[in-house]
Amino acid sequence: MNSIKENLKHIRKTIPEEVTLVAVSKTKPISDILEAYQSGQRIFGENKIQEMTNKWEEMPKDISWHMIGHVQTNKVKFMAPYVDTIHAVDSFKLLKEINKQAVKNDRTINCLLQIKIAQEESKFGLDISEAESLLNSQEVKSLANINITGLMGMATFTDNKEQIKNEFNNIQSFFEKLKTDHPTLKTLSIGMSGDYQLAIECGSTMVRIGSSIFGARNYSH
Ligand SMILES: *Cc1c(COP(=O)(O)O)cnc(C)c1O
Repeated sequence: MNSIKENLKHIRKTIPEEVTLVAVSKTKPISDILEAYQSGQRIFGENKIQEMTNKWEEMPKDISWHMIGHVQTNKVKFMAPYVDTIHAVDSFKLLKEINKQAVKNDRTINCLLQIKIAQEESKFGLDISEAESLLNSQEVKSLANINITGLMGMATFTDNKEQIKNEFNNIQSFFEKLKTDHPTLKTLSIGMSGDYQLAIECGSTMVRIGSSIFGARNYSH
């Protein structure tokens, strides 16, 4: 198996410079994150708030931490002091809580709206029309300590490349359409280890890559 450093080097070579790489370090130990850090990686993604907070406490403070997992409203306060971007925002209630906790910490927190693109039954994510009405809502616009910086999506877990491509194309065209009215939207977070090349072809500006950097996880999250 290649080292984390070699994996990172390879991935950086295969993604364009303007695409942001989030190194997904969930379940992996501090020593692995340090190895990635030492080869220049500064953006890490986690899907559990407690685990991310423990890692934030131990790691150098110039890291941007991205929460990529589903977030319960009552847990936002634990990451509000430091989290850079929350990827899976899917309700007004959650946006309001993120704003409230950001105010308490005198910070601004970046949020991505999670769009339901997978055909499989999924509990999380907004429909296109729901995302549109959130972005257009005066109440959302009045939340001064959050920035809605883009969209996030997860394709169906399948080997069918055509299907994944269709799902990526759908979110990309929605993203392009929204950008005309909402110029603050800059980020399209799609693509993981298995499909990031395809995601980039479909307009991804941010890929979330875990196992191709750190190796397989012992159990899936
Ligand atoms: C775990 C996870 C990833 C990374 O998955 P890999 O297949 O290991 O690259 C990306 N996005 C989300 C939301 C995840 O939970």
